[in-house]
Amino acid sequence: MGRREALLAEMGLAPVWRLRKKKDIDGWIPLKQAVSGCTACGLHASRTQTVFGVGDENADWMLIGEAPGAEEDRLGDPFVGQAGRLLDAMLAAIDLDRSRNVYIANVLKCRPPGNRNPAPEEVAKCTPHLLRQIELVRPKLILAMGRFAAQTLLKTDASISSLRGRVHRYAGLPLIVTYHPAYLLRTLEDKAKAWEDLVFARKTMQAL
Ligand code: URA
Repeated sequence: MGRREALLAEMGLAPVWRLRKKKDIDGWIPLKQAVSGCTACGLHASRTQTVFGVGDENADWMLIGEAPGAEEDRLGDPFVGQAGRLLDAMLAAIDLDRSRNVYIANVLKCRPPGNRNPAPEEVAKCTPHLLRQIELVRPKLILAMGRFAAQTLLKTDASISSLRGRVHRYAGLPLIVTYHPAYLLRTLEDKAKAWEDLVFARKTMQAL
């Protein structure tokens, strides 16, 4: 720890990486290159392109989904299909939109064929990219949407329903769990619970 860091820590201003937010501009370029050229798992063979992430790289909100679907694989951005339209509506309901103060990424950067679930080895190979994205965005709050995002970041196999409704921590950052928008498209009765989660997340953010 350098002198400045030690001083800040003594003043209770650590961890210092929080203070450095919005400065690590250079970190993005190598990460984007690493993702677009990644061949760490078999998904590279069937992808049209990698789907890195979208939004404000200095956002306070970071939303994390599962993996690109067909539309995302075709267009190169996360959540641009039907689930994405629902996500945009959910964001609008709490006065957010994907172009402002929100960053959206997935656990996997390549589409699993036929939209099957990510395999454990794919998650293991791809997670370092996501963790680096989180490190670079340094959001104030993470919203983990669906079990792959929640279980990966919280290192648990607990269900979404058991993880909802409280503030978890990932690397010291508040993390809230909610249902995945694609699940909500199939399970209308849980939409009200997702709304509760968003209101809870907004409240948590306001209190930060
Ligand atoms: N589902 C996800 O988890 N991510 C996307 O980008 C699209 C659908």
